[in-house]
Amino acid sequence: MIKINSNYPATQWIRAVLLAFLCCLSFSAQSVKTPKIALIIDDMGNTSRDSAAFSLPTEVAFSILPLTRLSQSYSRQATQQNRDVMLHIPMESLAGNKLGPGAITADMSTLSIRTTLTQALASVPDAIGVNNHMGSKLTQLSGPMSTTMQFLVEHQLFFVDSRTTRYSKAERIANDTGVMSLRRNVFLDHNATHEQIDQQFQRLLRLAKKYGFAVGIAHPYPQTVSYLEGALVNLSDHGVQLIALSELMHTQQIARRQQHPINHKEADQTIAPK
Ligand SMILES: [Zn+2]
Repeated sequence: MIKINSNYPATQWIRAVLLAFLCCLSFSAQSVKTPKIALIIDDMGNTSRDSAAFSLPTEVAFSILPLTRLSQSYSRQATQQNRDVMLHIPMESLAGNKLGPGAITADMSTLSIRTTLTQALASVPDAIGVNNHMGSKLTQLSGPMSTTMQFLVEHQLFFVDSRTTRYSKAERIANDTGVMSLRRNVFLDHNATHEQIDQQFQRLLRLAKKYGFAVGIAHPYPQTVSYLEGALVNLSDHGVQLIALSELMHTQQIARRQQHPINHKEADQTIAPK
């Protein structure tokens, strides 16, 4: 039982309690307001060299290419670390790039897309979401994207639009289909020199501070992994917090209607089409 000091006037007590309450409120508002970044390392599974990325903080999601000899083991290993796992689904590009196994192309039937997605997902069994590998052609096509999103909603998978073209319809179709979705704001290592990665990382932080959050995509290049190992340790010095993509996905879903929407025109980055 709390013994009230009778020398301490009641108004002082009320003031102290109120002050403590307000402190709590402002502390929790502060943590809600802290700008957030979420990171995805995609193209995982091409080579055993990619395993260096497992040393990154476990908030960093891995998006794993389907049907490679490493897909299953990377999926399991990442899940054991309590890391978000995604399926990195290859989609046809305008430039006709080599896509690898499990790819979706414009000429495929609905059934063929669904079969491909089923096989791809079975090879990355822990996936909780999907983002596109390449796809500058496919993400502009309503038919294949609707089939894809229908599959994702049935399997309760979220979607991150890698935005390999500014004309991508993927995010809009995801929303229309009821798939939780976000889009990539910055590619960190399109040019994988330390200076360029740093420049892009600073850009990611600026966007997060301006809009409350930002999503970056990077690759398991040795330069990127070593840059991020350093940069993510000092993140709190910049007043920014790294959170799991799944956490960001859920908080954004809840806040979407209340928050000021991100200005995608400004946040979008012009990149060479893939
Ligand atoms: Zn990719």
